[in-house]
Amino acid sequence: MQVGIIGLPNVGKSTIFNVITKANAVVANYPFCTIEPNTGVISVADNMLEGLSKIGESAKLTFASIQFMDIAGLVQGASRGEGLGNKFLSHIREADIVVHVVRCFTDNNIASQGPVDPVADAQTVNAELLLADLETLQRAREKLKSAARTGDKQAAKYLDYSQELADRLNQEEKADTASWPQDAADWLSQLNLLSLKPVIYVANMDETDQSRQYFEKLAVWAGLENTVKFYAQLEWELADVDAEERQQYVQELGIEGGPELLVNRCYRLLDLITFYTINKNEARAWPLKKQSKAIQAAGKIHTDMQKGFIRAEVISAEELLKLGSFTKARETGKLRLEGRDYIVKDRDVIQVRFAV
Ligand code: GDP
Repeated sequence: MQVGIIGLPNVGKSTIFNVITKANAVVANYPFCTIEPNTGVISVADNMLEGLSKIGESAKLTFASIQFMDIAGLVQGASRGEGLGNKFLSHIREADIVVHVVRCFTDNNIASQGPVDPVADAQTVNAELLLADLETLQRAREKLKSAARTGDKQAAKYLDYSQELADRLNQEEKADTASWPQDAADWLSQLNLLSLKPVIYVANMDETDQSRQYFEKLAVWAGLENTVKFYAQLEWELADVDAEERQQYVQELGIEGGPELLVNRCYRLLDLITFYTINKNEARAWPLKKQSKAIQAAGKIHTDMQKGFIRAEVISAEELLKLGSFTKARETGKLRLEGRDYIVKDRDVIQVRFAV
């Protein structure tokens, strides 16, 4: 699961990436050359895993993780190949969701494209994504047209849908494809359009009232539920401070947001839930797509478990923590047996029974 960090130059993307990777114990970090994005696999904070590891007397804890990419290089005209152009766009294509950073701080020493204007900046970036999508769509439509001419009924149908989509994109409207039939939606998802990716807007703040006004403006435009504050510079300065001292600063300065919140918001936007496995070796949190079945959870752990799946023993982490042991859970009948089609719930603890 990949999160792509995008935004205009000098808005604080790399600083935010660095804060997140530093604050969330990077599992792996491979810096590529400048045009390749920096990638960091970041563990997701979890308030139950430690308790579960005690129950399992587990030697180690493994947190769920998601991958962040710091994608540099977007300038106005990127869709026409300006700046790092297509390279940049192809990196965004790899992302499942997008963190779109906009500048809400004032600092005359840091070059920007003009006066601080978070909404205009966001629109500049979005316009590039949209233009790139229209091109992608145009190419796809050419193919559909020739297929439709040879009598391909399905292509003709997709052509209608793609017309509707192109119209909407042209009017800079979000395409609402929820009502599309499954096959058309599948066709669309293959196009992997940039402007349809779920997005969180991150306002890079300073501590001034002015900055808060910028944030308000952004939140009105993007929707408060899609907007997060992040004090990149300040967070970077606090990155080496211990947790208690940090908490003091955070309270004194009245800052909200921060790396943990952003990572959690990304996790939710990726449509992920967490399930746990516990044994003597390891207590582990696994990310899983919402609405996945037990058999899919088993497959995440090991392909053998998927192939030889018999059943799963399931209990909610909360309940297990309350009871304090698997023995107790079993005695009280709280450890349920579930089949392969069981829809895994957020924070289920799962033990897969399987035969190889
Ligand atoms: P990027 O080009 O979007 O990746 O931006 P960087 O993270 O490299 O930041 C560009 C410059 O702005 C650097 O000198 C940062 O130290 C500075 N910067 C980043 N965030 C802030 C902030 O919140 N306030 C101020 N004053 N400077 C910042």
